[in-house]
Amino acid sequence: MLGDKKSHGLWEASAPTPPATAPLNEDLTVDVAIIGGGYTGCSTGLHLARNGVSVAVLEGNEIGFGGSGRNVGLVNAGMWVQPQDVLKELGDVYGNRLLTQLGAGPAYVFELVNRYNMQCEAVPNGTLHCAVGQSGLEEIKAREAQWKALGAPVEVLSAEETARRTGTNAYTGALLDNRAGTIQPLAYVRELSRAAIQEGVKLYTHTRVKHYEESSDGYVVRTENGHSVKAKWVVLATNAYSAEDSNLPKLREELVHLPYFNFATKPLSAEQKARVLPGREGAWDTCEILTSFRFDQQDRLVFGSVGALRGMGSTIHKDWAKRAMYKLFPFLKGVEFDYEWFGMIGMTPNNLPRFHMPGKRVISFSGYNGRGISPGTVFGREIARLILGEVSTSEMPLPLSDIDEASFRGVKELYYEVGSQVAHAATARL
Ligand SMILES: Cc1cc2nc3c(=O)[nH]c(=O)nc-3n(C[C@H](O)[C@H](O)[C@H](O)COP(=O)(O)OP(=O)(O)OC[C@H]3O[C@@H](n4cnc5c(N)ncnc54)[C@H](O)[C@@H]3O)c2cc1C
Repeated sequence: MLGDKKSHGLWEASAPTPPATAPLNEDLTVDVAIIGGGYTGCSTGLHLARNGVSVAVLEGNEIGFGGSGRNVGLVNAGMWVQPQDVLKELGDVYGNRLLTQLGAGPAYVFELVNRYNMQCEAVPNGTLHCAVGQSGLEEIKAREAQWKALGAPVEVLSAEETARRTGTNAYTGALLDNRAGTIQPLAYVRELSRAAIQEGVKLYTHTRVKHYEESSDGYVVRTENGHSVKAKWVVLATNAYSAEDSNLPKLREELVHLPYFNFATKPLSAEQKARVLPGREGAWDTCEILTSFRFDQQDRLVFGSVGALRGMGSTIHKDWAKRAMYKLFPFLKGVEFDYEWFGMIGMTPNNLPRFHMPGKRVISFSGYNGRGISPGTVFGREIARLILGEVSTSEMPLPLSDIDEASFRGVKELYYEVGSQVAHAATARL
């Protein structure tokens, strides 16, 4: 995107064209100004406009420029954090609310996809969290017990069944989550923006917001190109891709960037594609520096892990990805990659997202820790409900918190980038 082949890779090559948009070239007055055109911003806009609220979405680049257009496309239920730890961290009220809403998140995403006939390769066939070794197996068994106690349709598969479903006998088992699935992530956010526009949202791209100020009846949002949007409410939906040179609340500073890359193979042959993920689930493993794999609709295998494809990382991670893919699936030996790209995941200290109100009528959710497709969609809906007066701040899925700068952010980011290079240079995997 914007001339960078490593930003959105395969997803940009295969997504439907985005709706026609242009930069804001006038001054506007709306009920709600939303800054950022990813899942959170587009979902908020869609749910507000559907209820008759006037909305302007201001996106600094193009729709899906941030994490929403670059990710793996695993439509997960819940966060990485195990359910019991969510309850421990947030307490029963917020913990149960978050688990309930995000547990039902994939179903809600797939419902929206159907309702608006979105062309985004949605495959609600479940996900496989693949266990590496005995410790991995124990981890997924704990997850199974905790989710089952909440009534979720999850199930640990035997090593044999896992081998049949994944095409490799590298794993000791897998947690099948029947609520989840895969999607073409950039296609989904573009289609979400199309649905939002269809419902009445005014959406402007290449419209970067500099700052906002309070006025007698709300806020005045000012863009870099010299225009303003008057609004009663402001939604900050810029998350891990918050522009650092703006004078907006410091959302980027509270997140540690974890880089994650993907490679996409050439379309596999009929024989090859029948052996890997024949059920077309999305998959990843329990390793700390994890590996993920899934198919797109052109039978390309999308293979990813932690790291940034820049500097030395470009070669190290590509070499690793080939070795790792051939080791997992020896029958793919010689299959080359057609696309490569990477993006930045916004991590928080407790690995849970955060809900802020840095002004009386300024709302923000951020820090999805690599789980943003369902959460961005669901939080957007909940932000809309808050603005519509259907829920109060204390009925939101997370407690209100202040925006705190992450400690040792630069050091941690360097550690992730260099650490992933060291790990991938040293090992093929397992
Ligand atoms: C490589 C990678 C893999 C991932 N894998 C998965 C996965 O498999 N499953 C999953 O659920 N999640 C995954 N995630 C996480 C998920 O992509 C994000 O959590 C989600 O996209 C966040 O959506 P968002 O709308 O909140 O933010 P974003 O999509 O990042 O959107 C923020 C937008 O704000 C814009 N912006 C910033 N500053 C300004 C400004 N001043 N003015 C105007 N606009 C501005 C940016 O240009 C950007 O488009 C992954 C993320 C990455 C990077």
